[in-house]
Amino acid sequence: MAETAFRKLPSVDRLAADPRIAAQLGELPRERVVDLVRQELAVVRAAVAAGAPVPDPDSLVERVVRRGLGLLVLSLRPVVNATGVIIHTNLGRAPLSRAARAAIDQVARGYSNLEFDLETGERGHRHTHLEHLLCQVTGAEAGFAVNNNASAVLLGLTALAQGREVVVSRGQAVEIGGGFRIPDVLRQSGARLVEVGTTNRTYLRDYEGAMGPETAAILRVHRSNFRLIGFTAEPELGELAELARTRGVWLFDDLGSGCLIDTTRFGLLREPLVQESVAAGADLVFFSADKLLGGPQAGVIVGRREPVERLRRHPLARAVRIDKLCLAGLAATLIHYIKGEALTEVPVWWMISRPAEEVRSRAEAWAGRVAGLAPVEVVPAESAVGGGSLPGETLPSFALAVRPRDGDVVGLARRLRLARPAVVGRVEADRLLLDPRTVLPEDEGALLEVLKGALSG
Ligand SMILES: *Cc1c(COP(=O)(O)O)cnc(C)c1O
Repeated sequence: MAETAFRKLPSVDRLAADPRIAAQLGELPRERVVDLVRQELAVVRAAVAAGAPVPDPDSLVERVVRRGLGLLVLSLRPVVNATGVIIHTNLGRAPLSRAARAAIDQVARGYSNLEFDLETGERGHRHTHLEHLLCQVTGAEAGFAVNNNASAVLLGLTALAQGREVVVSRGQAVEIGGGFRIPDVLRQSGARLVEVGTTNRTYLRDYEGAMGPETAAILRVHRSNFRLIGFTAEPELGELAELARTRGVWLFDDLGSGCLIDTTRFGLLREPLVQESVAAGADLVFFSADKLLGGPQAGVIVGRREPVERLRRHPLARAVRIDKLCLAGLAATLIHYIKGEALTEVPVWWMISRPAEEVRSRAEAWAGRVAGLAPVEVVPAESAVGGGSLPGETLPSFALAVRPRDGDVVGLARRLRLARPAVVGRVEADRLLLDPRTVLPEDEGALLEVLKGALSG
């Protein structure tokens, strides 16, 4: 049965010679097209052997063309974020400033002095491009950056606590986002986790009681993605620093979000500041560069000179080192803080600091542009900071609410997602909400074109 079915399939050469394939996949060399045809026919034969009907010739051509085009378009592409979630991990966390993008472009297009001292003409070090900036904005003695914060924490624990004990409050032995679990990271580093206190209350004496000759460090972990409220207690970082110093162990602080600006200025709860952890006496502070710092993906390590140097020299540091493009973007982002222009130049801070009234007038302008195409209104909404910071906290905002004429709000949301650029909003009951707070002004025109197209098409 399958034998006769197979005979109905064209040969590789015959299918590859179809002019429609040549027309659509003209950018691909002939050998690649033949490979694609072979791969597609193998899939079809397996399906036919399993009992599927033999596809007609047109659909075979179409399948080969789809396979080929799938190799020519970039799967990773820009999205206009109208969700109102500022640091959206699934949408790539922080958008970069103009200066950060320019710095990346400059380094990307040619050679650079990444590890070359232009003064002496000898070998230099990549970390020299960042350290003075990190020290300036955080007040730390020393610092450098690695691939991401997960690797920063892993490096710290591996370099300074491998084979020994690390004391962690039970309320902080947590899971942060996709698969970063403190107990697992500790195990991976070769350190032994010693949990102290209870889920809701841990006192200084709990730490004291758990420390002994095997203790290498105390690790504090910021509760980035959940809140502990009610009957709770934990020591101040300064108290832990004092205890660590008298017992001769390290104090590590995994801050996560890497906030350098007081969030209470914008009506939000207080997100702990990097500068405060440094001032309180943490030996090492770890944080992400692409959360509230607003830079490219990286993990930053700042603190006292000696432990920072030991991390930098550890073999694992080579395995998790920062690449030159992120290094360039991070340095340019830090310069915004040094110049005191982060609120206007770093996109995440620009978004956080927009007054609700300004967001409302942008939503109203959007409403005016699409009013004839569907029932729209401007409604109060809540934006979130997101990305492992200020869990449950929202900023008062406004959104454009669109009710498609055919009532198919899920279909409208899908058309927007599949448009170029993709536009992602929030479906709430029978309407689609688009929050201008997270839309960069330069993307507004494209968003409105996509929306008009989706409502009229
Ligand atoms: C986000 C976060 C991490 C992981 O950081 P990445 O940069 O995503 O690797 C680790 N610890 C805490 C407390 C975090 O909030």
